[in-house]
Amino acid sequence: MNKYVSTVLEELKAKNPNQPEFIQAATEILESISLACDKHPEYEKAGLLEMLTEPERVIMFRVPWVDDKGQVHVNKGYRVQFNSAIGPYKGGLRFHPSVNLSILKFLGFEQIFKNSLTTLPMGGGKGGSDFDPKGKSDNEVMRFCQSFMAELYRHIGQDTDVPAGDIGVGAREIGYMFGYYKKIANEHTAVLTGRGLSYGGSLARKEATGYGLVYLVDEMLKCNGKSMDGKTVVISGSGNVAIYACEKATSLGAKVVALSDSNGYIYDEKGIDLDLVKEIKEVKRGRIKEYVAVHKDAKYTDGCKGIWTIKCDIALPCATQNEIDVESAEMLIKNGVWCVGEGANMPTTLEATKKFLDAKVLFAPAKAANAGGVATSGLEMAQSSQRLFWSFEEVDAKLKSIMIGIYHSIADAAEKYGQKGNYVMGANLAAFEKIADAMMAHGVC
Ligand code: NDP
Repeated sequence: MNKYVSTVLEELKAKNPNQPEFIQAATEILESISLACDKHPEYEKAGLLEMLTEPERVIMFRVPWVDDKGQVHVNKGYRVQFNSAIGPYKGGLRFHPSVNLSILKFLGFEQIFKNSLTTLPMGGGKGGSDFDPKGKSDNEVMRFCQSFMAELYRHIGQDTDVPAGDIGVGAREIGYMFGYYKKIANEHTAVLTGRGLSYGGSLARKEATGYGLVYLVDEMLKCNGKSMDGKTVVISGSGNVAIYACEKATSLGAKVVALSDSNGYIYDEKGIDLDLVKEIKEVKRGRIKEYVAVHKDAKYTDGCKGIWTIKCDIALPCATQNEIDVESAEMLIKNGVWCVGEGANMPTTLEATKKFLDAKVLFAPAKAANAGGVATSGLEMAQSSQRLFWSFEEVDAKLKSIMIGIYHSIADAAEKYGQKGNYVMGANLAAFEKIADAMMAHGVC
């Protein structure tokens, strides 16, 4: 590894000893961009990597809220404004009990590179809270969202920082947060994306991450002489990304046989009945095991990890970080998987990624493969600026062209640096070239 890169990485580990997820993401990216740093010795004097790995700003705040019984609760709120070299900070808000600074720094750091790949003018950020919307009433969720926004509104704006949804933050939460922002800031602007269609949202935003994942994977397959048609696919999760990945993969002729949630997974060898899953997850906010009450021949198993023991051609992890470890990767490879597309952020551990690459599995890394969501958020911002809306077909066509473009930019970058077929390195290098160029142009700031 380039000496400057390894020094920065060691210092980063020493300075952030309690942030394993952030160090994991930084290690993968810094190792990959070592080749670019070899070509640019001027980066060291400019302190480029030290600046890149330190967030421009981290905001932490308390979020007090009152439950339906009158009891006060206090959660932690965060916004990590990581890097604005390319454009305003952009990245989702996650509401989940596991949220902490390490996880948000990993997500924010990844987001800088992902947003660069979209070719749109967006910097990287991420935020959220350790609040769990699951099991809360709509009124409780609304009071929480209002309290969260009562602080966050000071730090965001359509040209400053534009948050969106992520785990635990869907249409309901975005609606409550937008409504409160509008009230206290007295402006109706594109300060959040993923908005409802009646108040500034974009058609196809809901579908974008899942569809985009499949568009990119499909292009990768075509360029490697393969296709989705007739292939068996396993998808983890049953949230926004998983549902629309399932829909698009099925429309391209694949058979999706499994989905999961944080309690367990379902296996339906006839192919998943997605209308039923949407009814359970999007309408009733229920659990995935309810599926087997309708489809008696499908099987439900407790626990998430077992989903990776199901035999498949293509695996699309779409739930959460580090859901595929070495053991799961080995099981997938043993069962004949030959393609993995990451819909979730960092769903594969570093060691498991190496296993897939060594086994010559076609591996589409998250920052490229799931960039369709933020890309369509960028298209939502563009529509808001014009005060115009595009049809579903127009947005979907733009999304598809962006995803195909991302595939070719990461494949070309991998080849340019002598790493043909290694899309992990290709994604990091392609994204880094643009960020580094912008940061060098801005000087020390
Ligand atoms: P949702 O909240 O809609 O769905 C998340 C799904 O993953 C649910 O099925 C959830 O189960 C499951 N899940 C969450 N945590 C765990 C866990 N610890 N173990 C097992 N399963 C878990 O989120 P999204 O679909 O929006 O996001 C999924 C992933 O995709 C995340 O990594 C997110 O960062 C990433 N992503 C999302 C984008 C978007 O546009 N939505 C854009 C780019 C990336 P349960 O219901 O039981 O919690």
